[in-house]
Amino acid sequence: MAQVYFTNFRTTLEENIPAKFSRLLKESGIEKINWEKKFAAIKMHFGEPGNLSYLRPNYAKVLADAIKKQGGLPFLTDCNTLYVGRRKNALEHLGAAQENGFNVLSTGCQILIGDGLKGTDEVLVPLDGPNIKHIHEAKIGAAIIDADIFVSLTHFKGHESTGFGGTLKNIGMGCGSRAGKMEMHYSGKPEVNQDNCVACASCYRNCAHGAISFPHQKAFIDTDKCVGCGRCIGSCNYDAIHPIDGNSNVILNERIAEYSLAVVQNRPHFHASIIQDVSPYCDCHAENDAPIVPNIGMLASFDPVALDQASADLVNKASPLANSILSESQDLYHDHFKNIFPETDWTSCLNHAEAIGLGTRHYELIEI
Ligand code: SF4
Ligand code: SF4
Repeated sequence: MAQVYFTNFRTTLEENIPAKFSRLLKESGIEKINWEKKFAAIKMHFGEPGNLSYLRPNYAKVLADAIKKQGGLPFLTDCNTLYVGRRKNALEHLGAAQENGFNVLSTGCQILIGDGLKGTDEVLVPLDGPNIKHIHEAKIGAAIIDADIFVSLTHFKGHESTGFGGTLKNIGMGCGSRAGKMEMHYSGKPEVNQDNCVACASCYRNCAHGAISFPHQKAFIDTDKCVGCGRCIGSCNYDAIHPIDGNSNVILNERIAEYSLAVVQNRPHFHASIIQDVSPYCDCHAENDAPIVPNIGMLASFDPVALDQASADLVNKASPLANSILSESQDLYHDHFKNIFPETDWTSCLNHAEAIGLGTRHYELIEI
């Protein structure tokens, strides 16, 4: 049984929320890791501009300060997105992070985009084991793999494809390079929106498989040659290439679990989850709907699976907030996330994570 440490958001004159988060990290054992002179990647989501429910930089600063106090060398990181938005290359991604308040002063450390300028800076990480079903070589952002220690800092909220966006989603999907995200999300190949294509040939130069040609002065992808690496998506500055054919939500969840294992295996790792502003949708949305439950608290654990299970259980125990999408849903499933997104099943991710040895769904909640 894993230990998950928890504290609510009640404060006193002597202890504000950052101080309480700092105490939570200490009591949950963060100092047991040998941080001395070690690079520590803190994986988080900087929020799509327009979204206001992403985690404030103050939480990152508490975590970075705790690591620096132990002699570690932390940096904040995320990888580029697959879809068109404000975080699809490192320049826009860093701009979005700064717009949302993340900088050296506010967080106490630098920001590195894990998979580089165009989402192609990746390391192939082999995965092996009797219950690995989908991924034999995960494609993870190079800066994240280069770090000696991996830390996740997660805003726990809903997600339209995976049920909730928790620690495993932050790690597995979030650390995938563009090709990695393609592999998790899609079985198919990308296609070109010919109306947007200006025939600049950037995609052609970036395709290592000779899959792109210009039969009618517009880019065209030969699906027989395309291997679905997704490099062309990041290379197009005209948003003309997009993925097609999404996987089922269960396969998506299982692939996220396998990618999460590829990120954390063979090195120390530690995880924190903040249940605040629990929007029904992911922070990748450029808007956030009203929170579905009241703010609940902060959690930390060495086990990312137990952390997600504990976070989901706390949210599911909370009463729906009036004026939220949850208050408009029927309690058909006795599960807030499934009530909002009936086609999702978050347990498929946690069950598979447990089967491949990433962690356990069984936990002891220790309240401080
Ligand atoms: S990079 Fe985009 S705009 Fe340029 S040729 Fe390819 S699809 Fe067309
Ligand atoms: S996904 Fe990869 S292989 Fe397919 S066309 Fe784009 S760059 Fe080429």
